[in-house]
Amino acid sequence: MILDGKSIAEKVRAEVREGVERFARRHGRAPGLDVLLVGEDPASQVYTRNKERAARDVGIRGRLEVLPAETREAELLARIAALNADPSVDAILVQLPLPAGIGETRVLDAVAPDKDVDGFHPHNVGLLVSGRPALVPCTPLGCMRLIAEAEAAGVVQVRGARALVIGRSNIVGKPMAQLLQSAHATVTLAHSHTRDLPALCREADILVAAIGRPETIRGEWIKPGAVVIDVGINRIPAAEEGKTRLVGDVAFAEAKERAGAISPVPGGVGPLTIAYLLANTLRAAEQRIAG
Ligand code: NAD
Repeated sequence: MILDGKSIAEKVRAEVREGVERFARRHGRAPGLDVLLVGEDPASQVYTRNKERAARDVGIRGRLEVLPAETREAELLARIAALNADPSVDAILVQLPLPAGIGETRVLDAVAPDKDVDGFHPHNVGLLVSGRPALVPCTPLGCMRLIAEAEAAGVVQVRGARALVIGRSNIVGKPMAQLLQSAHATVTLAHSHTRDLPALCREADILVAAIGRPETIRGEWIKPGAVVIDVGINRIPAAEEGKTRLVGDVAFAEAKERAGAISPVPGGVGPLTIAYLLANTLRAAEQRIAG
């Protein structure tokens, strides 16, 4: 089966929309998400505008604040401190990458953990590793939802499955491995120093690729019937001169012949990531009210 991220994300958004309405009825205000963008990176501009729009679409008070590229780290930290102190702000997202000269770690560490909608703060990372998840990164949550859809269709049983996560970033790979382990899979985390990746792939009932290299995972490496989640977003030259197209980290056409379920690029993990940003905003708002 093809895991259709767009329609599954629509289900998640509908759930969030209902939750937001309930929250607003009870508390007299909508949950609030503030997105901070520093500079004019074109891709970041598109991503942040989409996030703001998606928030508004489900009734969240979404606000995008664009700071000039020359903004100094101290000014950004002051802005974050102000949002931390503002009771109408439930969720804060600082769009990455930040311009050179601004320390990413210092900035991400400055976001109040209970408003850290990306789940990047060491406090939230620690809670996830301790099996007490509070705010968990959106992309791995989206991947888990895709895997849950495959499980509901009878393709896999996560408990006891052998799962391979390829890529060990803080944003995707590491939290993904943690979530799979919490769901009782037996997890291997592969990375750029891993030996004989094809052999590991051949044993994986669940394979999550978060590498950032086009079509690296070949179809013949896939265990027949496996669930394949492709997180990669890579732009490569298209057949037509001067044009480009997006592909994942998995050679989709080959892999879909062997996989039991597979997510395409585009239209797989991407839509789920935004949907779980909205779900996390609602969750942050509810958790803050509950104290
Ligand atoms: P990253 O560059 O931080 O990490 C890449 C990881 O891949 C590293 O841990 C590295 O060790 C590993 N790696 C590199 N080459 C490898 C190889 N040949 N074999 C095995 N492992 C290898 O990247 P990231 O932020 O985790 O993102 C990964 C990909 O996912 C990128 O294409 C990114 O654009 C995409 N992404 C998509 C979404 C989404 O919403 N769909 C969200 C985040 C990231």
